[in-house]
Order: sequence, then C-alpha cells, then structure tokens
Amino acid sequence: MLKDARHFRRALLEWFRREARDLPWRRTRDPYRVWLSEVILQQTRVDQALPYYERILAALPTVHDLAAAPPDRVLKLWEGLGYYTRARNLHRAARAVVESHGGRLPQTAELLQLLPGIGRYTACAVASIAFGQRVPVVDGNVKRVLARLYDLAEAIEGAAAEARLWALARGLVPRAAPGDFNQAMMELGARVCTPKRPDCEFCPVAPCCRARAADTVTLRPVRRAARQTPHHEIVVAAIRKRGRYLLGKRPPEGLLGGLWEFPGGKVEPGETHAQALARECREELGVEVAVGGLVACVRHAYTHFRVTLNVYRCALVAGEPTPNRHTELRWAAPAAFAELAFPKANHKFLHLL
Ligand code: SF4
Repeated sequence: MLKDARHFRRALLEWFRREARDLPWRRTRDPYRVWLSEVILQQTRVDQALPYYERILAALPTVHDLAAAPPDRVLKLWEGLGYYTRARNLHRAARAVVESHGGRLPQTAELLQLLPGIGRYTACAVASIAFGQRVPVVDGNVKRVLARLYDLAEAIEGAAAEARLWALARGLVPRAAPGDFNQAMMELGARVCTPKRPDCEFCPVAPCCRARAADTVTLRPVRRAARQTPHHEIVVAAIRKRGRYLLGKRPPEGLLGGLWEFPGGKVEPGETHAQALARECREELGVEVAVGGLVACVRHAYTHFRVTLNVYRCALVAGEPTPNRHTELRWAAPAAFAELAFPKANHKFLHLL
C-alpha cells in the first residue's frame, strides 16, 4: 500500500476531473456504450478509436441492434481496426445478452466475464464505469504507472507479475467513483506517466511516487528481454477472370477470421514465389494457375510477426476453384471491394487492381 493512499486518490481524481480529455464515451454511463468503447480501445489509440466508436454506434445504437446485425455487417464496420476477434466476440456477447439477460448487461465483473470474449480487464472496466462496482483495471498504461508508483524491480510480464499488479491496483481503488478512478489511472499513463518521457514535474501524484523518490523512473517498468519478431514472406494470387478477382472468405475463428482475402500463403524454404503460388492455389482451390507479373510488394506488421505480401497477377489454366480452406469463394469486381471486409494489409494494394 502507498504511504498516503487517500491523498493519492484525491489528487488523481481532482486532476482527472480537471484535465481529462472530453471523449464521447466519458459523457455516458450507458453500459452498452461503455462496453463498446472499451473493446474498441483495446490495442487501439484514442484518435483511431474515435471515428469507429461514432460509426458503429450510429449504425448499431443498442445492444439489440448489434445482436440482430449479420456477422458480415459487424466485420465491415470494424474493418481497418484489426484484431477482428474483438468484433466477433462483441457480436457473440451481444447475442448472449439479448438471449439470456433480456438485453441488459450483467452488472458485476464476475457475471460479465461469463459472456463470450469478455476478459477480466473489460469486465472490470464496464462494471466499475457503468455500474460503480469497486474493482480495479489493469491495462498497459496502468501497469507502467503501478511499476513506477511502487518502484517495482521485477519484470511486469508473466502470470505472477500480473497477479501482483492486479492486487496493487485493487488496493488503490476507492469505494466512491471507482470508474472515474480507473479511467484516471489509465489517463495518467496515457498522458503524464508515458513510456519514454514521463512528465514527473507536472504529475498530480508525484509526492506519492516511489520511483521518483528513488530516482529510478527511467528504469521502470522492468521488462523481459524482447524476442525478435518473426517475418513471413507471403505470395498472393490476383486471379482475374472477365474483370473480376477470385476471393476467399477466411474461416470464422482465428486470425483475421471471417474476412475476405486473395488466395495465397507463406513461401516455404527453397521455393520461388511462382512455385509457392502454384502450390497454394492447388492446395487452397484445387486449380492450376499461370503466374504473371508482380503487381505489388507491401509490408505489414502484426503484433507478433511481420509479413511481406508479394501480389502477382495470375490466370486460371485448369480446374474449377473449390473452397478447400475458405468457407466461401466469390468472384468480385474491384468496384465491389468496398462492400467486403478485408484485412488491413490488403488495403495497401487493392487500389492497384
Ligand atoms: S511522478 Fe513520474 S514516474 Fe511517478 S507516477 Fe508521476 S509521472 Fe509517473
């Protein structure tokens, strides 16, 4: 526990009420809106999240609207935000809320966590902000703030560290206004106690900060040595027939699930791009293709790996495409691409087709 936890809470809340950014989800306690904003904000910057929040809310203003929407519509609204599992889980959970809870979100973190895809963070954020439950939240920003406040000398990654951080956060949350307090912790991490240059001089809780007192701010948080991000060389087949391109819909589960893509895949060791394309088209579609010129070469970074997409024009030479790995195949003209949800990396070359 901090030496003066009461002073800490008061100083942090006063600062938050004075300085907090005016964001649309902070003007409401509506559980659906709070939940939606929390899901969008995971792994997404506020400036990026804002237009999506407005757009999704305009299209699906209530949990009933979300539950009734077809999965493709939800994915299309989510397109470009990445981490599509979030959209699929949001949709699934909305259906469960309507089917099993009469369209009202459960009011405690424990019950919220029973809904599909709602983890501890989201459950606690919604329970504290929308329903005033006294539970903490721990996200990346809060971890950093706690590591400095308590001058933690251990790495903040791993299950044991995670449990310790949640326990420290729990000890700080006040009975009154737990939602504001949790948002204030995140806001402090986002705007003052930032990763590279924390603004300790203007920090509202500087007198309570152990790292500042020990002059170890630049050493906190301690991190495990980073692993090198793997890189994959990918070949993509732009198979054209009468002005339309062959697309496949990815299976609903897993990375980029439910999105449309062009056929293709990883180049195996020792393969040329043309050999890899021919093999992928055989495996994925059961067809033989003639590989033409390179249309585009684009790079994209996901959280745990990077890819280079090499897009080639291809023509069908034998066989009728069958969906061996996709749930559905479709021939689509470039004018129809806007109606379909693609992975973000695809948008880097779609305009070239
Ligand atoms: S004093 Fe500095 S290190 Fe400590 S919480 Fe404030 S900004 Fe972070």
